[in-house]
Amino acid sequence: MNRHISALSARGETISLLAPAKINLALHVTGRRDDGYHLLESLVAFAGFGDRIEITPAVQDRFTVTGPFARAVPTDATNLVIRARDALRARFPAKARPVVIVLEKRLPIASGIGGGSSDAAAALIGLNRLWALDLDMESLCEIGLSLGADLPMCLHGQQSGLPLLARGIGEALHSVSRFPSLPIVLANDGTGLSTPRVFQALSRRDNPPLPSPPDFSTIETVCAYLRQTRNDLYAASLTLAPALAGLLDLFAQAGARFTQMSGSGATCFAVFQDNAAAAQAAAFLKARHPHWFVVATETRSASE
Ligand code: ATP
Repeated sequence: MNRHISALSARGETISLLAPAKINLALHVTGRRDDGYHLLESLVAFAGFGDRIEITPAVQDRFTVTGPFARAVPTDATNLVIRARDALRARFPAKARPVVIVLEKRLPIASGIGGGSSDAAAALIGLNRLWALDLDMESLCEIGLSLGADLPMCLHGQQSGLPLLARGIGEALHSVSRFPSLPIVLANDGTGLSTPRVFQALSRRDNPPLPSPPDFSTIETVCAYLRQTRNDLYAASLTLAPALAGLLDLFAQAGARFTQMSGSGATCFAVFQDNAAAAQAAAFLKARHPHWFVVATETRSASE
């Protein structure tokens, strides 16, 4: 069974998929093209925690959103899951029978961990299977790109489980085949940040590239590498959400080996030595801030 299929679980004909949080472990903004697109270099990993999507054949299409962040997402045709379904159906109308899709929204919205893109990638992978379209990764990425720049990244990440080095405008992707699973905590104080607004607030767009990646054999080698990297969006996000600095301080107090903001924020992550330390840190944050989004999880690794 290939990794693509094993990442799915089929109960009868219902397909269940995890749409994992995308974590930018490092994000450098290295330039800007004449057409306005920013050039980025990012080391991206995918969490064992995310939204969940269930797809079941039906006599009529239906789309339901459940979960703690359901009220913050659209349930109409603008939801990226529905846009993904409709984009596939437009290309394969004869095979695209009606489906009931249930999205359990467990990731906060507009929070730098790519929830919408990950949902759309999971929908493409699930419907490709359910409708027996047999599309390869290249074709899925081409369709995905019409929905968002981060879709190819999420498709690759969900298929392989591997972290990626992303360059250009996010289209040049290289899997990192040797990488440990990182015990992490994700936290967000409820702030949503608009990605375009963060990019507008950037003061510098010509930062140095990522350092060459070493052999990522242990959590320590990963953290040592990450300490030489940056999230070049952090300063801009901080001007829009000053509370970010306090969140990173709390992680440090909780014993994190490395902390950083993901994407354009405001979700931050911290790497811990082991799962017990991550769970303890999550409990520490939750006790102080019961209403925050706080999750202890692990980044996925190739062997899963
Ligand atoms: P990124 O990390 O790529 O910047 P993000 O985590 O900041 O993404 P999302 O949570 O994907 O942002 O949401 C961005 C916008 O997409 C929101 O304004 C939201 O209304 C819209 N959206 C459409 N469909 C979804 C979905 N399934 N989940 C989340 N947001 C969605």
